[in-house]
Amino acid sequence: MRILIAGNWKMNTSLSEAVNLVKEMLSGLDEVTGVDKVICPPFISLAAIKEIIRGSSVKLGAQNVYFEEKGAYTGEISPLMLSGLCEFVIVGHSERRQYFKENGELVNKKIRAALKAGLKPILCVGEQLAENEAGQTEAVITRQLKSALENIAYNSELVIAYEPVWAIGTGRAATSEQANNIIGLIRNNMAKLYNKESAEQVRILYGGSVTAANATELIQKPEIDGALVGGASLKANDFISIVKQASAITQT
Ligand code: PEP
Repeated sequence: MRILIAGNWKMNTSLSEAVNLVKEMLSGLDEVTGVDKVICPPFISLAAIKEIIRGSSVKLGAQNVYFEEKGAYTGEISPLMLSGLCEFVIVGHSERRQYFKENGELVNKKIRAALKAGLKPILCVGEQLAENEAGQTEAVITRQLKSALENIAYNSELVIAYEPVWAIGTGRAATSEQANNIIGLIRNNMAKLYNKESAEQVRILYGGSVTAANATELIQKPEIDGALVGGASLKANDFISIVKQASAITQT
């Protein structure tokens, strides 16, 4: 499985800061082979960054998308607007579920619309701390996957990210064993929702306080096909280091 490392810049960087950041990391990322490298800056910087990375091996993603193609949806960005601009789109990030009340039904519509427009969705699932402590992780993940993918045919471009909410931005990553177990469970769910081949083929990332210090330990686990990186993707050297570590794993 080809490892994918995606950087989620969240609501950080002005246009000029984003341009500077991508220029700072571009050659370091570009020279790393055997790994898919994706950066997801804010919408307002996508067009400029698209030009800067043109001809390189670095790919572009958006952090969100609406499900309608066009119309009176003030402030929203449609899949058609993104399809000429970037390749990937993050859908159902826990911050969108938490602060913008995105539910399973909305996430489902977004995944469907993204795939229809030829975008590659990175579907995020993950349990909150209280759910984790109550032993509900499996039930939450199963429910989130089922609703996000309901009545959607399997598409090999789909990427899933397991992001336990308690690990995001907290500096407290899941242990590699925990992440590996839950990702194995996600794979079992994919086998039930689709079939064994899809479950084996789908790339499932881990996200939640991935850093240059813990990346190898996490990504080398057999079920983990890469990482969705927040904070550390805003530091050029750290993000390059994570991508290099992934490449080293690919080569072993
Ligand atoms: C994220 O934004 O998806 C994320 C995992 O953030 P962080 O790496 O900062 O925990």
